[in-house]
Amino acid sequence: MGDFDVVVVGAGFAGLYALHHLRQRGHSIRCFEAASGVGGTWYWNRYPGARVDVESHEYSYSFSEELQQEWVWSEKYAAQAELLRYLNHVTDRFDLRRDIQFDTRITAAHYDEATGRWRLTTSRGETVLATYCVMATGFLSAPNKPPFKGLEKFTGRQFLTGQWPQEKVDFTGRRVGVIGTGSSAIQSIPVIAEEAAQLTVFQRTPAFSIPARNGPLDPVQDRKIKARYRELREMEHELAPGGFLLTLGEIETPTQKSFAKSTPEQRRAEFERRYRSGGLNLYLAYTDLLVNQEANDDLADFVRDKIRERVKDPVVAEKLVPRGWPILTKRLCADTNYYETYNRDNVTLVDIKNTPIEEFTATGLRVGGVDYPLDDVVFATGFDAMTGALDRIDIRGRGGKRLKEYWEAGPRTFLGFMTAGFPNLFYIDGPSSLGAVFQPVLLSQFQVNWLGDCFDWLRAEGRGPIEPTVEAEDAWIRLCAEIADATLFPQANSWYMGANIPGKPRVILTYLGGFPDYRRRFLEAAADGYFGFMVG
Ligand code: NAP
Repeated sequence: MGDFDVVVVGAGFAGLYALHHLRQRGHSIRCFEAASGVGGTWYWNRYPGARVDVESHEYSYSFSEELQQEWVWSEKYAAQAELLRYLNHVTDRFDLRRDIQFDTRITAAHYDEATGRWRLTTSRGETVLATYCVMATGFLSAPNKPPFKGLEKFTGRQFLTGQWPQEKVDFTGRRVGVIGTGSSAIQSIPVIAEEAAQLTVFQRTPAFSIPARNGPLDPVQDRKIKARYRELREMEHELAPGGFLLTLGEIETPTQKSFAKSTPEQRRAEFERRYRSGGLNLYLAYTDLLVNQEANDDLADFVRDKIRERVKDPVVAEKLVPRGWPILTKRLCADTNYYETYNRDNVTLVDIKNTPIEEFTATGLRVGGVDYPLDDVVFATGFDAMTGALDRIDIRGRGGKRLKEYWEAGPRTFLGFMTAGFPNLFYIDGPSSLGAVFQPVLLSQFQVNWLGDCFDWLRAEGRGPIEPTVEAEDAWIRLCAEIADATLFPQANSWYMGANIPGKPRVILTYLGGFPDYRRRFLEAAADGYFGFMVG
């Protein structure tokens, strides 16, 4: 039976850093990973066109200056294969592989009050003991495949974007259906369309997408950014609402300007500039886009017009134009030729908003009495976000309390990091943290560093275990809801609100108070004798 100070669950960006950092601080540690390799999101999401939509210089580790100086990204937005190469490089460079057990899923984690330790069970039937459990299980890692009627009859191939096969999938000459039009679909549709004989896209809700404007990284620009890397990282933490700020390849201080205080001409010019820069830059145009309905409407109209310009057939264009929810309250998508793909002869858009998919048949699927013959179906239907991966593990705390039951009305955490009654169990990029709205790589480093300090303190003081008080948890949940209610987020049926999964409680699943505020709360809690926590 394995016995460790720390068990880390998951070997994606967050888990790898947790393993590295906590091992360096002298803890015996083992990381368990369900996949056969490292990478998490970037291991599983191998669908055609998969790439990051935050610039690679920013969507990468900052903990080692040598690492960030030596690694050379080939494109502005790294593709999945390059990100996986990077994470394998990090794994080997810091000698992490020897402490990772692959092909092993943690199926249960039970807290033993008598010993104050966690007993974990693996999919291989092993039992492992640990003092601390660090759940780096990802917040978009439990794929959602809706239970469409008749799916078992379908004889064609089925693919899930979030669980894509290891080997290349060839769509040449095939009739392919894609269900969903979120970020994953928007990246894969243009690539699949180039290969397939016929592509039919089944769209329930159109998304807002803007051109990523990806391309090879200019070595001069690479050198310029690297010369100021430390400064860039500081600004990402201190000033950038989402933890990213590169604009047109330049380090630009994020705006403090509000839409309300600008003229229509200034707004148009700013939106155009951001749009030309590509990627998620529109988030940074004004500070009040997510709280001021008029500002939001103006930006939405701007993007709607851009969509209309990109699609030749006005009827198809109107189907692709999002309406009825504020822009940016669902994740903005960044695409390469997404809307232009609908100008191809081999691509058809089927609106299933009012006429949902009726059922699958042996040879395809049926919508509104019309049969669509398909050889392959791609489910780009998203994830049981934030809570899904944790819910799939049988986690029991004090008195056998089950986490999944305790979270029936929505996740209960303090700082999106711990739950009352579950001592020494930590979530990295967890529910009600900032993972969904702040760069998760940076957030995970901050949380893990804090954890390292916390473990040192517990060790030095001979204290433990640690868990939050119910009062602190209540206050955190209230705060998350209050901040969200002051924004436009609750208006959208997004995964941020748990609204993409039927039956899931509709509550905000992320903290919208910004990173500086979030960090302050963590640091103040530690400085104040772990205020909000109970320490044994
Ligand atoms: P998603 O944004 O949740 O999109 C899922 C799509 O499937 C939506 O269009 C949804 O329609 C549709 N859908 C779900 N259930 C359906 C049903 N029963 N019938 C018909 N349509 C259904 O999922 P995702 O595209 O995988 O993206 C999830 C998140 O992952 C993103 O928001 C982003 O944060 C991240 N991501 C990032 C990147 C990147 O960095 N480039 C790429 C991919 C994903 P409704 O909207 O009507 O529910």
